[in-house]
Amino acid sequence: MSYAGPESDQPRPRRSPPRRALTVALAALVPGALLGWLAYETLGGPGDGGPGRATGAASSSQASSSGGAAGDGKPGVPVSPSATASAPAGAGSLKGKVVVIDPGHNPTNFRYTAEINSTVDVGTHRKECDTTGTSTNSGYSEAAFTLDVAHRLRTLLQGQGATVKLTQDADRPYGPCVDERARIGNAAHADAVVSIHADGSGAGNRGFHVILPGEVRAGAADTRAIVGPSRELGTLIAGDFARVTGSAPSNYLGDGSGLVTREDLGGLNLSTVPKVFIECGNMRDSKDAALLTSGAWRQKAAQGISEGIVSFLRG
Ligand code: ZN
Repeated sequence: MSYAGPESDQPRPRRSPPRRALTVALAALVPGALLGWLAYETLGGPGDGGPGRATGAASSSQASSSGGAAGDGKPGVPVSPSATASAPAGAGSLKGKVVVIDPGHNPTNFRYTAEINSTVDVGTHRKECDTTGTSTNSGYSEAAFTLDVAHRLRTLLQGQGATVKLTQDADRPYGPCVDERARIGNAAHADAVVSIHADGSGAGNRGFHVILPGEVRAGAADTRAIVGPSRELGTLIAGDFARVTGSAPSNYLGDGSGLVTREDLGGLNLSTVPKVFIECGNMRDSKDAALLTSGAWRQKAAQGISEGIVSFLRG
């Protein structure tokens, strides 16, 4: 079964331009994915845990880097002076906030073909319950990747005091189905939900993109209330992900913004709480695969996502 996109449909390479009028602080961060990456590139390009990029990167991090104080001790993560000063208060600062992490796919989905191929109603149409996901050419599965990043992200967010729930933790034979994944976030009254993925695109296609819910009103789907806050969440995550990992926004979707809007994903269409997907890289590209298979890089990926969520939740 060919794979394209988090729920197997072809990603739509359309996007909405970043909205620049939310707040002054957000306006400064809106082109964050690209700016974060450019700032990083200026400072010397990608490296695995290399030091020496805190100075300039901090200038582009400001309001969003306090999550770096989560206490994981990772070197090379830029932290602005103001963030450092507020770091001791960071633990517990998200007390009362609920974050649902949705690790895409499931490590044993492949054993339950009939079950995951059964369809569910996502409002706009019916689609498969779930998919197996992709893998690197050497066999590292997307499902293993998403769970690993989810665990790292959970640790970081819990360190900030947030209540964190996973939609699955390899604790069920398959799924959940995409509609249930959405319902888990809704039932938890999550303040933010992020669905973790890695793409299965062609070699040469590189970089990350964050998928935002488009405006959908069909059947049980009504995203009107979450489009705005989800865009804010996704924009912050994209900026921090680019800055912390040094990865560039996708060179094949999103026109270099790292942001893609879709109306065909059940996990987004059925959400009633702010939610985005992130495709952290392309597992089928050898250079991206080298990153995705690195534990050190996955820690950075989790850190970048965490910082974006923390910024969003602190408003
Ligand atoms: Zn996926």
